[in-house]
Amino acid sequence: MSRNRINAHQRRAQMARLKKWWAGECAYCGLPGDTLDHIIPCAYGGDNSLMNKVLACRACNEGKDRMTAEEYLGNSTYRLRRIRAWQVYVTGLYAEAEHQVAAKRRSAESEAPL
Ligand SMILES: [Zn+2]
Repeated sequence: MSRNRINAHQRRAQMARLKKWWAGECAYCGLPGDTLDHIIPCAYGGDNSLMNKVLACRACNEGKDRMTAEEYLGNSTYRLRRIRAWQVYVTGLYAEAEHQVAAKRRSAESEAPL
C-alpha cells in the first residue's frame, strides 16, 4: 500500500474536487458526506488515485467496509451510473493534464537555443 501513498496536500486536493463534483453528497446514499471512500478497497488492490475515490458519508464508508462500490450498491444502477460518470470526468482531467504537459514541452522546445 505504501507504493501509492499520497500526502496531506494531495488528499486535500482530492477532497476539494470530490466535494465539488458530488455537491457534498455521498455517492452511495445521497446524504451529506465528508469522507473519502475507495471504490475498490485498498485490501483488494485499489489505489489512492482520484479515479478510485468517491465522496461518502461516514455510515456508508463504514458500512461498505471491504466491499467494492458495485457490491455495496447492488442493484442501485442510478448510483453506479453516477460513479461511472465521475470516473469519466476524472479521465478527462488526466487527458487535460497530459495535454498541458505536451504543450509546455512543445513551447520549451521551440524556445531552446539552436
Ligand atoms: Zn451514504
